[in-house]
Amino acid sequence: MNETDLFGDSPYSIVYRNPELLTAFGLLVLCEILWRKFYRKEEYGTAEAAASVGIAIGRAIAKPVMIFALAGLYIFVYELRVYTFDMSKWWSWVLVFIGADFLYYWMHRFKHVIRWMWADHAVHHSGNRMNVFMNFRLGWTGLIVGTWLMHLPLVLLGFSPSAVITAYALSLVWQAWIHTDMIGKIGPLEWVLNTPSHHRVHHARNPVYLDKNYAGLLIIWDRMFGSFQEELEEEPCDYGLVQRLTSNNPIKIAFNEWGNLIRDVLAADSWRGRLREAFGYPGDKKAVLAEQARLRVQREKARQVQAGPAAGE
Ligand SMILES: [Zn+2]
Ligand SMILES: [Zn+2]
Repeated sequence: MNETDLFGDSPYSIVYRNPELLTAFGLLVLCEILWRKFYRKEEYGTAEAAASVGIAIGRAIAKPVMIFALAGLYIFVYELRVYTFDMSKWWSWVLVFIGADFLYYWMHRFKHVIRWMWADHAVHHSGNRMNVFMNFRLGWTGLIVGTWLMHLPLVLLGFSPSAVITAYALSLVWQAWIHTDMIGKIGPLEWVLNTPSHHRVHHARNPVYLDKNYAGLLIIWDRMFGSFQEELEEEPCDYGLVQRLTSNNPIKIAFNEWGNLIRDVLAADSWRGRLREAFGYPGDKKAVLAEQARLRVQREKARQVQAGPAAGE
């Protein structure tokens, strides 16, 4: 059984079977390089972009290991399914796509607040410049942090593993073009879709933006579950990790947060402390979280003052 039979399309296979997507991506890179050089008069950040490509290569090597390790589990869970969705019907694809996007939102949110998962996901947030290469920065340790768990509820419901993974891959392909500073807000689409503006916020470390906009394709989940933040004109995005990482060594980037986690677990003086360091909220973000709460109170006060005394009644 090959990867596509069992695990559907990966973002890579979708792209190499649709060369026009690759051409569009190449054009996007070219436009971004020219825009940055001639319009913004800034450096593109070639070393960072090269590091992103290095990380993508490492992930491509790690992925077959993950598929080999999980194939049996996915087949087992699919055997237990409660229903069988007919994937020749268009509505089955609509359902699997909405379901996969919903689960992506929650898994992404967990990856930001559970340090064990953040150790893998911090790789995606390690870039200090926004460009389309940021899309390639994905962790190598998904197998041990359990990112594969996110697909299992849909497999258990009765969508084939191949359909679920294809739906997930389409969401990743969508995200290929939203990692850019070049595209502003795009009108009413901002209400429904995850756009470059919303995703810039997601990558920013400003207190007001930290841990916001977890969406894959549909931003509606953030609006529904209270994690949405609009990009503000007066608050330009400052990209990167709270504790900035400046290395362009793919191996250092891939394991940096794991190193921090192990250091903090070893430094803790009780089992409770060790567990908190490994599975609690990522320590380096805590101070920013406090600042976020302070800003929220400040904004609320300003809103009440603007609304006048009647608002307090
Ligand atoms: Zn994230
Ligand atoms: Zn991203």
